[in-house]
Amino acid sequence: MNLPQVNIMVPLYNEESVFHQLTDRLQKLIDSTPISIEVILIDDGSKDATPVLMKELAMKNDKFQAVFLSRNFGHQLALSAGLKYFNATEAIFIIDGDLQDPPELLEELYSYYKNGYDVVYAVRKKRKESFIKRTMYANFYRFLKKISYIDIPLDTGDFSLISTRVAKHLNKMPEESRFLRGMRSWVGYKQIGIEYERSERMSGESKYTLKRLIELAFNGIFNFSVYPIKFITNLGLLTILFSVIYFAYTAFIKIVYGGTPQGFTALLFVIILFGGIQLLSLGLIGEYVLRIFFQVKNRPLFIVRERIVHKESIDG
Ligand code: UDP
Ligand code: MG
Repeated sequence: MNLPQVNIMVPLYNEESVFHQLTDRLQKLIDSTPISIEVILIDDGSKDATPVLMKELAMKNDKFQAVFLSRNFGHQLALSAGLKYFNATEAIFIIDGDLQDPPELLEELYSYYKNGYDVVYAVRKKRKESFIKRTMYANFYRFLKKISYIDIPLDTGDFSLISTRVAKHLNKMPEESRFLRGMRSWVGYKQIGIEYERSERMSGESKYTLKRLIELAFNGIFNFSVYPIKFITNLGLLTILFSVIYFAYTAFIKIVYGGTPQGFTALLFVIILFGGIQLLSLGLIGEYVLRIFFQVKNRPLFIVRERIVHKESIDG
């Protein structure tokens, strides 16, 4: 059995409307490039015709493998599931199913791999998305870079080409709340960013709801930064310092002028402010505790219902 040099990994969630466009473009790529390719499509518990289309294709075309998850686990876990089953000898190319990441970039990214890079990630030069989404993304990545204890490059997503040894390391990382682009940076080796223009989604709607995006952002922050904890400590120290100064001030007023400062409103304000700060601090610590809580359960990250490999169905 000839193993492919590259696996193209595509997680799909309710993508029936782009499916044919996607697989046509992938097939064209397979036919036109000298690199031998096998695609691994991952169905993340789609409720539309995606799994049916995937099965149909994988049963008649052995260049396409299919992995079906038992339910919707989310993009990061779907990708992690696919990565477990790579069979390429050289590299894995990770793209979105909605063709926002042009598959045709494979050869360019692969050439860097051939020159000794283990991770070639694509950097978004321009985003053809709404102004609000763009600003939110850009600010988030800059904020994360500031506070993170690893160097996560700006404006990159999961769209990348990684060597099989990097994939093996990712597979060995058991963390439950996954932020793959951060984990990919953590692995190390030689990494390089290549600029590209991110296109619009070809069809259908974004499957990342605002809630999911915030979840992903939180995973980035709380899995790769201890800054929130330091922030609480510093805030606490600052408050103590402030209260000492304020105490000295009131003592001074009392001794020199014989009165104490009045101010019911100010008192109320301070109580409410510190009530808020304490709740926020608890919440920030809670985010870390939550992650410990889910991690110690030690559950499998996802469940695979079925796989189709080289036109053969295998039980998950
Ligand atoms: N996706 C997935 N599971 C989910 C949500 C999304 O596998 O729960 C897939 C989706 O089908 C697509 C990719 O992840 O191939 C990126 O999602 P999307 O394009 O909706 O995100 P956006 O580009 O808007 O950030
Ligand atoms: Mg998209």
